[in-house]
Parts: sequence; C-alpha cells; structure tokens
Amino acid sequence: MNLIFATHNLNKYKEVKAQMPAGIALGYLGDLTQDPPVAETAETLKGNAELKMWALSKGFGLNCFADDTGLEVTSLDGAPGVYSARYAGPQATDADNIQKLLVALEENGNRNAQFRTVIALYWDGEVHFFEGVCRGTILEAPRGHQGFGYDPVFLPEGHTQTFAEMNLGQKAHISHRGIAIKKLIEWLSKRNSF
Ligand code: IMP
Repeated sequence: MNLIFATHNLNKYKEVKAQMPAGIALGYLGDLTQDPPVAETAETLKGNAELKMWALSKGFGLNCFADDTGLEVTSLDGAPGVYSARYAGPQATDADNIQKLLVALEENGNRNAQFRTVIALYWDGEVHFFEGVCRGTILEAPRGHQGFGYDPVFLPEGHTQTFAEMNLGQKAHISHRGIAIKKLIEWLSKRNSF
C-alpha cells in the first residue's frame, strides 16, 4: 500500500517511517519530482494539517497525510502553538526559537508544556483526523543533539532524557507525532490488510 507523508522535513519523515508496518510503503515530498506550494495560513493545527493534505491530494490524487505540530506552553497561554516554526520570526532557526522560548520563561516557575500534533489523512476520497499529545516541561538549557525543533529543551513527563537525547524509536514511542501515527496506522489496519 502506498502512502505519501506531505512533508519536506526529513526528521519527521524518518521518525514516522520507523513506525510504519512493512506493508505500508511510505514516501514523502522529497520523493516527488514536483509538489504543490502550500502557505500555512490557518490559525489552528488542524487547519494547517488539512491545507497541506489537500494540496497534495487535490494536486496529485494521492493517498496521503500531513501533520501540523505546535508546542503549547501553559504559562505563555499556549504559545508558540500554531506559530511554533516562526516563533522568533519568519526566518527563525530552531536555535533562535529555543532562545526566544528560554528568555520568555526566565524566572517563570511554571515550565509545563505539551506538544500537540494533528494529522489530516486523505484515504480513497475520505478525510480523517488523528491527534497526539505529549506532556512535559521546558528545561532551562538545551540537552542532546538528536531530533529537531524544540527537542533539546523538552523533557517528556516521566522521563529523564529530552527528546534530543532519545533515538528515533524511543521518541516515536511516546511522542505527540508517534501517538497520532499509531492512531492512523490502527485506522488503516481496520480498513486494509497489510
Ligand atoms: P510543523 O509546522 O508541524 O512542521 O511544526 C512547527 C514547528 O514545531 C517546527 O518548526 C518545530 O520547531 C516544532 N516541532 C514540530 N514537531 C516537533 C518535534 O517533534 N519536536 C520538536 N519540535 C517540533
């Protein structure tokens, strides 16, 4: 069974590919010779996931899914949330975003946060959504070199390693995206044999 993950993010693709059962051949936008440009203009994770999913399914008629993820920090009223990629500005790097977050949380007692992923799946003409949440805290300094985004400052609840100190499998087992992907695989497995 062929399924395309509508992302350019190789880190995300590797995480998700590691979770896929052998019967699902997962591709991503890097495998296509052309792909539709998408502006992430929605104000919700669900809206942006849907925009990315439709761009690929309408343009190419492929079974596909897209995810959108936000880091929601309790004491920042859920920021950066849907703006997580652009928190420190339109051209911000992961390091810029982390730096801005650490400054925003300086002298803040409440460092609770969660990652939330929404996946929009297009499958044989139907659209379905799956959500995954991972709670944790924001550290005062980055730790670890794996993963991407805010991984070095995110300590998942009940764990002693940040996401950036975990390997792909460990992160996928407990992460927001990993949980949402498990729900997607479960849904597909009820419809198809693979
Ligand atoms: P996206 O729009 O779903 O690609 O995610 C928005 C931003 O959230 C990314 O640019 C990253 O900074 C951050 N992000 C998404 N997923 C993760 C993750 O699994 N770990 C750390 N940061 C993430």
